[in-house]
Amino acid sequence: MIHFQSATFLTSAAKLAQLPEDTGIEVAFAGRSNAGKSSALNILTQQKGLARTSKTPGRTQLINLFRLDDLRRLVDLPGYGYAKVNVAIKKRWQLTLEKYLSERRCLHGLVLLIDIRHGIKPLDQHIIDWAIKCELPLHILLTKADKVNNHLKATQLKAVKQQVKDYPFISVQPFSSLTSEGLVALKQQLAKWYAVD
Ligand code: GDP
Repeated sequence: MIHFQSATFLTSAAKLAQLPEDTGIEVAFAGRSNAGKSSALNILTQQKGLARTSKTPGRTQLINLFRLDDLRRLVDLPGYGYAKVNVAIKKRWQLTLEKYLSERRCLHGLVLLIDIRHGIKPLDQHIIDWAIKCELPLHILLTKADKVNNHLKATQLKAVKQQVKDYPFISVQPFSSLTSEGLVALKQQLAKWYAVD
């Protein structure tokens, strides 16, 4: 049983060298800014302050780490695609992200949040491609599922599943922080990644 509500802020890192030792188990959350990452982390941990920490000015471009227990950490990766960030910063961030995804040995899985209304955008696809390249287990949350009707939800889910069907280590589910739809399924996925085998 993982106690997500026990999450406490551990540290922020501007570059990989500042991360804690590469031991234990990390699960990271990534997504375009505004995809609903903070809201998802809030309901997962039942802590409003948790994602607020990541949204504090000056911390939005950092990797923010939260401790669940002695072994496990939640990692909040900076939201990408924010129009006002300049190209040089975007480029540097992309390199850091790619390095984190490909080199971090304790990273057991990545949760990628995508607004169900928008589907996979090029920057999301870039992350998916990296996960495929590294064979990193990936769980896609199609967020804000409460904003679409059941027909559109099913259509979008089918379309994204179709795009990743060749990769058994990629899964997809609808999710809503507003209604908690999909929260149990998300916790089940995380429990698998956090399991010590
Ligand atoms: P972040 O930038 O990815 O951390 O996104 P936020 O969690 O801050 O959410 C961006 C906006 O979308 C906010 O106005 C949230 O209230 C809204 N939002 C996030 N999740 C949901 C959801 O599941 N349903 C609805 N209707 N709105 C959501």
